[in-house]
Amino acid sequence: MIIVLKPRTSKENVARMEAMIQKKGMQPHTVIGEEMTIIGCIGDTTRIDSKLFEVDPCVDKVMHVQEPYKLANRAFHPEDSVVNVSGVLVGGEHLAMIAGPCSVESEEQVIEIAKAVKASGANLLRGGAFKPRTSPYAFQGMGMDGLEILCAAREETGLPIVSELLALEHLEVFDDKVDLIQIGARNMQNFDLLKHLGQTKKPILLKRGLNATYEEWIMAAEYIMAAGNENVILCERGVRTFESYTRNTLDLQAIPVIKTLTHLPIIIDPSHAGGKWWLVEPMAKAAVAAGADGLMVEVHNDPSCALCDGAQSLKPEKYDMLLQTIGTIAPVVGKKLR
Ligand code: PEP
Ligand code: MN
Repeated sequence: MIIVLKPRTSKENVARMEAMIQKKGMQPHTVIGEEMTIIGCIGDTTRIDSKLFEVDPCVDKVMHVQEPYKLANRAFHPEDSVVNVSGVLVGGEHLAMIAGPCSVESEEQVIEIAKAVKASGANLLRGGAFKPRTSPYAFQGMGMDGLEILCAAREETGLPIVSELLALEHLEVFDDKVDLIQIGARNMQNFDLLKHLGQTKKPILLKRGLNATYEEWIMAAEYIMAAGNENVILCERGVRTFESYTRNTLDLQAIPVIKTLTHLPIIIDPSHAGGKWWLVEPMAKAAVAAGADGLMVEVHNDPSCALCDGAQSLKPEKYDMLLQTIGTIAPVVGKKLR
């Protein structure tokens, strides 16, 4: 942090500022120029509220030279983090291929889809049991029964399961039953929920909020990590823009940006990004080519009858073709599909 003082600040005020900086646990390094004085603050500034300095009448401006996140920061952890999801590694050279229906609708549906996506090369099964819907009249998910169905599908196929946690009251049961706990876009800044995720060591799939900046998203990951759970995987799922033709706009730049700023794995969800099934394949290919650590794709055996997100769901045959292509792209970018 660098504090720029107003021109002609008195020596007494410079000394007062230096004392204030020391009181906050940092070391001041003062440079007195002809026109202005600047004070560099050396030390951990992540816990310092810079507003304290900004409001001082002697201060012109405060500039940050360090990001406000520490545990997620690549600077303090240069190597890629690899997250272990019940034996499936995510990050580094390992690709997470998450596939399954938007929502759990019945045991037959989930098991049929799970078997198909596994045969195509998926290594994790997704399915929403509790659904965050825009309308209170829309299908809200099967709840606990849905979780049981996912567990049955894991039993049948051996695929670890991914499901979205909507409310804190279900954390304990998710910790018990789910292999990768998804925090959806709408809950990305539910700080109370994020803090409680430190109570579990289960990996967390943290989706990007609908209009979250990279820093806000990384700070949400930092909440989970600071609470004691460092097993965080980020998921870009499209952000809101002026464009209304697609559901959201997929931000592929998030891949190299997140990899530069953090050491966490990042996967791409092209289904919720475009909202159209035919956009999934080109965006999924681009994501893996750009260095994504995995994909989360909605797959449905009968998309036209799906209770949620049928329009963006691939049929199992299309998913199979997609993974064949991903299999040829993966080694080119130093990744392994299986
Ligand atoms: C989902 O993956 O089922 C979902 C609701 O996604 P998002 O939170 O990204 O909208
Ligand atoms: Mn969905």
